[in-house]
Amino acid sequence: MNPQVIDALLDWGVPRLRDLPWRASRDRWSVLVSEVMAQQTQVSRVIPKYEAFMREYPTPAACASAALSDLLKLWSGLGYPRRCKNLHDAARRIVEEHQGVVPGELESLLSLPGVGPYTARAVLAFADARDVAVVDTNVARVLSRATNRSLAARESQSVADSVLPIGRAWEWNQLLMDFGAQVCTARLPRCNVCPIEEHCAWNDGPDPARSSALTSKPQARFDGSDRQARGRLMKVLAERGVRRRDVSGSMGLQGDSQRATRLLESLVRDGLVVIDGEWCRLP
Ligand code: SF4
Repeated sequence: MNPQVIDALLDWGVPRLRDLPWRASRDRWSVLVSEVMAQQTQVSRVIPKYEAFMREYPTPAACASAALSDLLKLWSGLGYPRRCKNLHDAARRIVEEHQGVVPGELESLLSLPGVGPYTARAVLAFADARDVAVVDTNVARVLSRATNRSLAARESQSVADSVLPIGRAWEWNQLLMDFGAQVCTARLPRCNVCPIEEHCAWNDGPDPARSSALTSKPQARFDGSDRQARGRLMKVLAERGVRRRDVSGSMGLQGDSQRATRLLESLVRDGLVVIDGEWCRLP
């Protein structure tokens, strides 16, 4: 992307940025919570949970001192509860090793449980307005199509770094993510309203984003999946304990106790469920 294209995209996109509650904050903990919640989850589902979470746990210390079961109850319905446990573990580490302040260095952020390259960079870019490029699935797709290249993960990061407008990282990163979510969408990109269409290198050939790393791939069916069965049990456990003999029923796996046992064991291994005699509960 040449500087004119970058300017054109900034002019077009900044006034259109979505009004999301975490965008008003420059607090690293708020940004970290929002980014963890938003992974693989629709923004509309994240907003009420994010607001409730920040009311209850406005600091890493508040989160670290809470029981994991309380966090999981609040998280119920968002899916992927492993993220919630990672956030709890990260809060504890922040309290123990960083005096309760989310660190502001990439390496320290990357050492926190559940924090990968995208999340670590997002904290620096969105809380501290540091000049770092963040590459989520939306950004990776835009970069791949705009350059008409199938990009490996490192190449995506390197292209993102090379086009980052210094001093405007906060706006640029936010708008690329919105642009990918709303215009250069995974299915049926809206090229007819795209402000950089004449500069886009993707022609009529195969979509280069499909073979790029970091872009979203078609998800396996949710109906009937292990994820659905685990989620059902977690939802019931957010309300009450479940007897071991009733676990298959709570998972919707009546008659398949072998599979239910395997899934229960995986939840115990992940630290999301404890078995207490005949009962299963949240930790
Ligand atoms: S022209 Fe289409 S494919 Fe290219 S960047 Fe715009 S929306 Fe994406």
